[in-house]
Amino acid sequence: MPSQSPFQIDIPATDLLTYLFPPSKPASDKPIWIDADDTKNALSSRQLLQWVKRLGSGLQNLGLKRQDVVMMYSANHIFVPVAYLGTAGSGCIYSGCNPAYGVEEVVYQIKNTECKVILVEQPLLQTLLEAANKTDFPTDRIFLFSDKENKSLKGIRDWRSILPSALEAESWTWNRMDAEQSRTTVAALNYSSGTTGLPKGVMISHQNVIANTEQSLFMRDLEQPYPSSSSPRPEERWLGFLPLYHAYGQLWSIVAAARTLSPCYFMRSFNYSKFLENIQNHRVTHIQTAPPVLVMLAKRPETKNYDLGSLKNILCGAAPLSKELQNDVSERFGLKVVQTWGMTEVTCSSLHVPGGRDDRSGSVGYIDPNCTIKLIDDAGKEVGPGERGEIHVKGPNVCMGYWRNERATAETFDDDEFLKTGDVAIMDEEGWFWIVDRKKELIKVKGFQVAPAELEALLLEHEHVADAAVCALQLDHEELPRAYVALKPENKSASSERDIEKWIAGRVAKHKQLSGGVVFIDEVPKSPSGKIQRKVLKEWAKNDAENF
Ligand code: AMP
Repeated sequence: MPSQSPFQIDIPATDLLTYLFPPSKPASDKPIWIDADDTKNALSSRQLLQWVKRLGSGLQNLGLKRQDVVMMYSANHIFVPVAYLGTAGSGCIYSGCNPAYGVEEVVYQIKNTECKVILVEQPLLQTLLEAANKTDFPTDRIFLFSDKENKSLKGIRDWRSILPSALEAESWTWNRMDAEQSRTTVAALNYSSGTTGLPKGVMISHQNVIANTEQSLFMRDLEQPYPSSSSPRPEERWLGFLPLYHAYGQLWSIVAAARTLSPCYFMRSFNYSKFLENIQNHRVTHIQTAPPVLVMLAKRPETKNYDLGSLKNILCGAAPLSKELQNDVSERFGLKVVQTWGMTEVTCSSLHVPGGRDDRSGSVGYIDPNCTIKLIDDAGKEVGPGERGEIHVKGPNVCMGYWRNERATAETFDDDEFLKTGDVAIMDEEGWFWIVDRKKELIKVKGFQVAPAELEALLLEHEHVADAAVCALQLDHEELPRAYVALKPENKSASSERDIEKWIAGRVAKHKQLSGGVVFIDEVPKSPSGKIQRKVLKEWAKNDAENF
């Protein structure tokens, strides 16, 4: 029998803008999105709504149609929420592109999304123009996007140039969605490789985002519930350093911050000393983060130079966290560290330890409201408490499928329409879950996705490489991408392992580099049908990790 969440909650069946700005609730003047380096640079929800209306009508004036994609290529700043909500609010689709990406990775996302408009931050313009050139993307559909007004650069105009005035946009209204529209209208395309293959655009509907925000806030506040998810939380201050091209950042730093009116101090990018300084200076109470930040909190000597006494709660997800590290950080700082499990395909998360719970067990908690989970063993049989099985999940936060990829969508759902996650867990009799393995190809480097298939395809472009397979080298608190490479017989001594590593490093974002090394082998282990035998690779990497 599938396990159901013990909780059922009402999830508003509407669009994102109506959810965040209901007619019954006046917009607030309290600053919510605040530049951590310059706190005068901030947006209240009233200002955000004004900008959202201007962008929404600006996109429509440009001729964008319902469900056209707008791609954003930028670091975090306080206007990214405007782009996210203005795009989704106008019926278009927001797709964030990692600002660490180079030309070829941007080319892939432009082609895969078939985006109609690109918003780009000035320091990334040159890379974008090269990518646009390779894809014949029209430059009059590229706009500079930042929190400050820009002059045109290389013929590219500032995004403000397409906006009507605040007065003109005041009467612009969005299409208020009913339940069916909310379920079937895509708000965001977030990229994930899922259980196999190349990164794919995950279609996240308005309903998915609203549901997952409600579920996450419900679980977070379970011990001390508020009258409603939108009740003000005057005592809370958050730190917005999670990347906003990823679901985790979007859910908390944009949508949940807007829903709860919790001030969120935005960091443009992650820097550990700045992170500590911001917690201290802005008296931050809550952070949402991933295990590498906990490693730093536990191990980096500069931590003790800062007063982190304001911190009450750390939510940790995106990658495995050992209970030793979790408890070390809890004790060191006298606060609660609670885990969550999720993936881009469930919007953000589907399992949570209730916020404020003093959990020392390394569990990722129990099932979010309105969700159902089955654990399935390798033979395809459902298993009960105490047994290992792959998580299959169903619920209002589970994505609509992959963008323009019916085959991958069909392969990702089982016969009962549960999403196959590729993560292996054990559940106890009380419904608490522990993640014990990952059976999909995905590698997580500092919480970021690395798709082996992407690196394998790239390695095959190297003139000396005959075949290649990539997997994770598992170290204590991290995973590193490692490549097993067969050279062409005639090129056996033409490249060294280091040459291949460097060649890859010049072509991918930093987190995708082969930091786990390159190993030359005679042949990539494959099944008779030609599939890479990933279990064999995993064994090799396990042995190699001992001597790394
Ligand atoms: P992403 O789609 O980038 O959010 O990555 C999702 C993947 O990260 C999951 O499928 C897991 O493999 C991993 N992950 C997320 N949260 C956890 C967690 N709490 N413990 C272990 N792995 C996790």
